[in-house]
Amino acid sequence: MSASSIESKLSILADAAKYDASCASSGSKRDSRGGLGSTEGMGICHSYTPDGRCVSLLKILLTNVCIFDCQYCVNRVSSDTPRARMSVEEVVRLTMDFYRRNYIEGLFLSSGIIRSSDYTMEQLVLVAQTLRERESFRGYIHLKTIPGSSEDLIEKAGLYADRLSVNIELPTVKDLHTLAPEKKRDEIEGTMGKIHVRRDEIATDQRIGIRTPKFAPAGQSTQMIVGATDTSDREILDTSSSLYQTHRLRRVYYSAFSPIPHADSRLPGSAPPLIREHRLYQADWLIRFYGFDAAELTTPEQANLPLDLDPKHAWALAHRDMFPIDINKASRELLLRIPGIGERGVKRILRTRRHHAIRDEDLSRLGVVYRRARPFVITADRHPGPLQIDSLDLKKKTQPKQRQLMLFDALESAGNGQV
Ligand code: SF4
Repeated sequence: MSASSIESKLSILADAAKYDASCASSGSKRDSRGGLGSTEGMGICHSYTPDGRCVSLLKILLTNVCIFDCQYCVNRVSSDTPRARMSVEEVVRLTMDFYRRNYIEGLFLSSGIIRSSDYTMEQLVLVAQTLRERESFRGYIHLKTIPGSSEDLIEKAGLYADRLSVNIELPTVKDLHTLAPEKKRDEIEGTMGKIHVRRDEIATDQRIGIRTPKFAPAGQSTQMIVGATDTSDREILDTSSSLYQTHRLRRVYYSAFSPIPHADSRLPGSAPPLIREHRLYQADWLIRFYGFDAAELTTPEQANLPLDLDPKHAWALAHRDMFPIDINKASRELLLRIPGIGERGVKRILRTRRHHAIRDEDLSRLGVVYRRARPFVITADRHPGPLQIDSLDLKKKTQPKQRQLMLFDALESAGNGQV
């Protein structure tokens, strides 16, 4: 294997992998000739392990050859993109070379579908198996699971990989039918179901003291493309919510559709605003950690999340009859519904009010965004009148001011996702 051939394959296959949002931090390209810190639009991405560590992963496709013709995908059979394929041995050697040089702590491996689901999955599993058994590789492995793969292969994949993911790609059966007719929702969910059942069996064995090898200990995730069709956020959140409940996914990743060359005329000519992806992540967070039901965040009439407000703030403005909420008496569930108060703020409020009544001046100290929360809360020394809650300009008064984010604000909200 010559260095130049592996380099050109790597450039094609790592670049093609950047569309997978479940490893979203790669994909930036900056040529800083004459300066420091050039980046390539490919290669290394970051992910979080179950214990919260951030690890860098080699993110690559085994091949971008695919027998399917999903219209939103640059690797579809009808695309004239340059093709490449690595052998199992090439991926193993590349991973080990990068690992020994300390460039990476793990591997994120996906693939276009070659021949059949089982054949492709076999190849992916073989990479993980060789790394673990022959090379004694102890790094993190995220394997993309091909829908429709046999139970045996999924079993093996889960034994070698830390995380498995099966991409749902499009939010509704109708969308799949229109843009990716070879993909079947039943098959995708069937594969998620097999992973879920196997994880449950292993967890039960471990609970009753049977020593069983771990199976995908970092859980399973999926990716959904947003904005390739006119499907609303309401339908997208409904699908996510049902996937979380039915298959106990660790994460749903939302990836804004990116236009591709020579695209089908049914696809939009431009990408949706990135803020839409952000609002979906915020809504997803509210569903998973704040006790919101997916259907509460939009309405049949307003089926998309507002872009100018975070979804919890928008919900509060539409449910003013629930406010103001007494911060000294309300349950945890109600406190979590107040705009400007995140999970950590609620914890601090609950802890503090055991010792003394919370006054207005305490709010900022407890991590509450005072300007946003103020009209919605009753404190020991202030009770906003109904006129304040019903005022027409409440949105304007509580809307966050547009400002340049400070680096550490952005880091904090990216890390804790608090809304
Ligand atoms: S199966 Fe995957 S790689 Fe193949 S065309 Fe569809 S989305 Fe692209």
